[in-house]
Formats: sequence, C-alpha cells, structure tokens
Amino acid sequence: MAEHGTKDVAPLASLGKPRPEQGQDSFRSGFVAIIGRPNVGKSTLLNQLLQFKLSIVSPKAQTTRHKVRGILSTENYQAIFLDTPGAMQHARDLLDERMLARIHEAMKEADLIVLMVEPHLPGDIEQRLIERLRQMSKPAILAINKIDLVKKADLLPIIDVYRQSHNFAEIVPISALKGDGLGLLQDLIVRYLPEGEPLYPPDQLTDRPERFLVTEIIREKVYHLYGEEIPYHTAVEIEEFQEARPKEGRNKDFIRAVIYVNKDSQKKILIGRGGQALKQVGILAREEIETLLGRPVYLELWVKTRPKWRENSAFLRQVGY
Ligand code: GDP
Ligand code: MG
Repeated sequence: MAEHGTKDVAPLASLGKPRPEQGQDSFRSGFVAIIGRPNVGKSTLLNQLLQFKLSIVSPKAQTTRHKVRGILSTENYQAIFLDTPGAMQHARDLLDERMLARIHEAMKEADLIVLMVEPHLPGDIEQRLIERLRQMSKPAILAINKIDLVKKADLLPIIDVYRQSHNFAEIVPISALKGDGLGLLQDLIVRYLPEGEPLYPPDQLTDRPERFLVTEIIREKVYHLYGEEIPYHTAVEIEEFQEARPKEGRNKDFIRAVIYVNKDSQKKILIGRGGQALKQVGILAREEIETLLGRPVYLELWVKTRPKWRENSAFLRQVGY
C-alpha cells in the first residue's frame, strides 16, 4: 500500500501490487467504477479525466441517476469509467433502489474500484462501501477529494484511519475541481487495468447516445435554477429529436423534451410567472446542447405532472432508469 502527496510523486517501488508487468508496451483496457457518497465529486472527476463534460455536476445531492460510462482512450490504454449515483444510507423509494442497484452492478462489472471520499473520517456510507469492497477480491484505490478545503496536516489522521479500514491498493489525495493529483491518480489507475485490447473505438467518449446526454443537460439546468425539491422530483424525456435537413428548409435540429414533475404545484414553479422560469431552463440548455452537438438547435420544452413517478416502475423504465 502506498499513499501519495499531490505534488511529490512517490517512487514506483512503493506501490502495492499492480498487475504484473507483461511487457512494457502491452495495451491495457478495463472498467473503473467510481463510487462514493453523493456530492463527493465523482462526476467532476470523470469530466476532468475525460476532459469533456459527460456527467452532470451540481452542488445538490443525487444529481447522477445512471451509471454513465466515460471512455478514456490513449495510445497505451483504454479506461472505461463508470460514474455512479451517490451511495445513500437507505433507499426511500423505487428510484433510490434502482440507483443503489446501479452502484452494485458497477462494482461487479469493474476491474478496479475508485472509492472517492470527502476529506473527513469515514461515515456510515463509507463503512458500508468498504464492507462491500472487502467481499470482492478487486483492487481498490481510495481517492480523498476536495483537499483544497483542508490543511495537509488534517489529512494525515484521515489517511491513517482509512488505511486501517481496508487494504487499499493506493491512497491518493486529490482535488477534482482544481485538478490536483489527477495525473498521478490516472497513472495509478492504469497500473491496475488488465492487459487487453480496446473495448470501444478510440474516438468514442461514451456508450450513451446523444439523446441521453441531451436529457441530462436539461436536468442539470433544472438542478441549477431551482431549489432542493423540484430537481429531486424531475425526470426528463425526449419526445422528438429530428436532425436538421437544410434541403427541406429546416436548418436546426428540432428537439421536443418533456420535464416531468410529481405535483401540479411543482409544475407551476417550474414554469414560473408567464413561463419565465422555464424559458431560462430552455436558454441555458439549448446553448449547451448546441455545444455538444456542434449544430444549432430548436428546443421545445413541456412540463407534465406524473404523480408519484419515482415509485412507478413502468415510468422509470420509460425514462431510462
Ligand atoms: P457527485 O455527486 O459525487 O457526482 O459530485 P459532483 O461531481 O456533482 O460534485 C458535487 C459538488 O462538489 C460540486 O459543486 C463540485 O463543484 C464540488 N466539488 C467537486 N470536486 C471538488 C473539489 O476537489 N474541491 C471542491 N472544493 N469542490 C469540489
Ligand atoms: Mg454525480
């Protein structure tokens, strides 16, 4: 086991048990699950590693609902990162249960697990995840994130407690937001990937279709523009997505999306007086969708009420959860 400061890179000799070196230039590829409590910075890390905004980020808990795959391809390796929803203590409803199932699936699927934690002593959520790690014979790297928020001296006791809690292959302090320690983390991740051929074409960034990314962008804007309650009760579905056909006089992609909420009172808030609030969602979402697609877009947003949708299994399937 080894731990590393963010600036001073430890010599390679101090590393744990990386995969046997099977020839210097053998290609490595594999799955890396990023797990941890809500808001610890999992999506921020994924986006930083990919240098692309794949996963939506927000200061509110429970933003990520899916297992999003982000593919990082280089000349020497392909790492397929699985961003997961935040691990919670108890499932409150069917959507929560689905999200917990996603985390466990990702852990099973992965060749390597990155447990991401806040720079604090482990809480119940961390302890549970560590218990699960113990039941699996897979290498796990502990990434202590947000070190920009604490003094180095305060980190040491935290590292100690974690080191005693599990046989982590590596312990790396990072700041996903500021980019500290990420090069090192990336190098260490690669060491624990199995040898193998690339699993995806090298120019593919995700296994998720554009349609999915579009719904996530809209959902993110709702997270940014409204209070705690509305985003939690929001689901987004694309009803129509037509690419531009300049020959037929349509110069923009046409996207019609529905934002579902739980109650009529939420619908009212989402739309706002004279539709002003919803208009804001549309403006921000359209700009980002255009950047993603690299084409002009006409975005039409509708709001509909679906009482208790978080408990409705057919609906969850319909919107892809
Ligand atoms: P997730 O729920 O684990 O996916 O967390 P997000 O990636 O959505 O991040 C949650 C919040 O933490 C966002 O407001 C991020 O900007 C913030 N955050 C992520 N990484 C860092 C970090 O290294 N330092 C600080 N100060 N904030 C961070
Ligand atoms: Mg997330």
